[in-house]
Amino acid sequence: MSQSERVSRLAEELCSRGLDRLLVTSSVNVRYLTGFTGSNGVAVVAAQPERRHLFLTDFRYETQSAEQVSSVFEREIAPIDLFEGVERALAAELEQERDNDHPPLRLGFDDAALTVKQHARLRELLGSGWELLACGGVLEQQREVKDDREIARIRAAAQLADEALRELLEAGLVGRTERELAIELELRMRRLGAASASFPSIVAWGPHGALPHAEPRDQPIVRDVLVTIDWGCVLEGYCSDCTRTYATGQIGAQAREVYELVLRALQTALAEVQPGPTGREIDAIARQVIEDAGHGEHFGHGVGHGVGMEVHEGPRLSRTAGEQALRAGNVITIEPGVYLPGRLGVRIEDLVALTADGHEVLTGLSRELTVVG
Ligand code: ZN
Ligand code: ZN
Repeated sequence: MSQSERVSRLAEELCSRGLDRLLVTSSVNVRYLTGFTGSNGVAVVAAQPERRHLFLTDFRYETQSAEQVSSVFEREIAPIDLFEGVERALAAELEQERDNDHPPLRLGFDDAALTVKQHARLRELLGSGWELLACGGVLEQQREVKDDREIARIRAAAQLADEALRELLEAGLVGRTERELAIELELRMRRLGAASASFPSIVAWGPHGALPHAEPRDQPIVRDVLVTIDWGCVLEGYCSDCTRTYATGQIGAQAREVYELVLRALQTALAEVQPGPTGREIDAIARQVIEDAGHGEHFGHGVGHGVGMEVHEGPRLSRTAGEQALRAGNVITIEPGVYLPGRLGVRIEDLVALTADGHEVLTGLSRELTVVG
């Protein structure tokens, strides 16, 4: 989908919500709509087709924005405080659109992206001609359904991250510290072409693996333990996310049993991933497998989340979120885990794109328990 199709789809949504404009301030949403990757840009999208869509940035980004911003937008160079530019542009439009007894025009804004202070400033600048309406999530919802080009980018990011891990494992795990491995993994992803890691990599062995968000330590990895690695990269603006748990030798019966359980939970949930069920239902399927084995209390997080321009986005797959049916074009993770405090942890995470009648797994690494010395 081109930028202009994204904008017209958004405009339709704004019309149906009775808004005149949407002010887009979060950098990821600005990039999604306009193509601009700089740090100071805002877009004002018009609901009515006869009105113009605006993009504002400051002088530092004049050249960059000329190259990047879709021609659907009229580009303006504003003061560094872009709200001043927004006010000026909107004041001019107000003149044209509104006769004296017309009610204020309705300007939507993302309440998740604007601080209270920024909102007050905007309110003050715009005056009584514009009514400000919170409408956070409108673009996040649109972004939940990816087109083929976006999925291709996520697939490429996943393949790159897989490749970086394969390279890392070639040199083995035992004797190297969690921190060393995390740094090297990020370096390898960068060398292979990634813009960055999509989040700080997790490498956690033994009892430390029982912390779902473990921070890598300076502790060398020993033999005969489990090591959980959770990592991903950003490539052309899109993220990947994957987790694997490896054994560094002989592991005990309990560790093996937990591994097989988590794998079964993943496979059982994955089998149902297609358009139709809700995120909550997919979560419940994985959870049931783990509960039936007596480990319900050891699986504290949701079974998955959407991945796209952000590594955590909609749709959510958990007990408390995900009432909406999954749709073709959603890209989600399935990542059950079992964490035994003070002992061990296992998480296995795959990245999956929903197709019209099923799904495509974007992660290419084996899920079987693998020994890496
Ligand atoms: Zn992950
Ligand atoms: Zn994840």
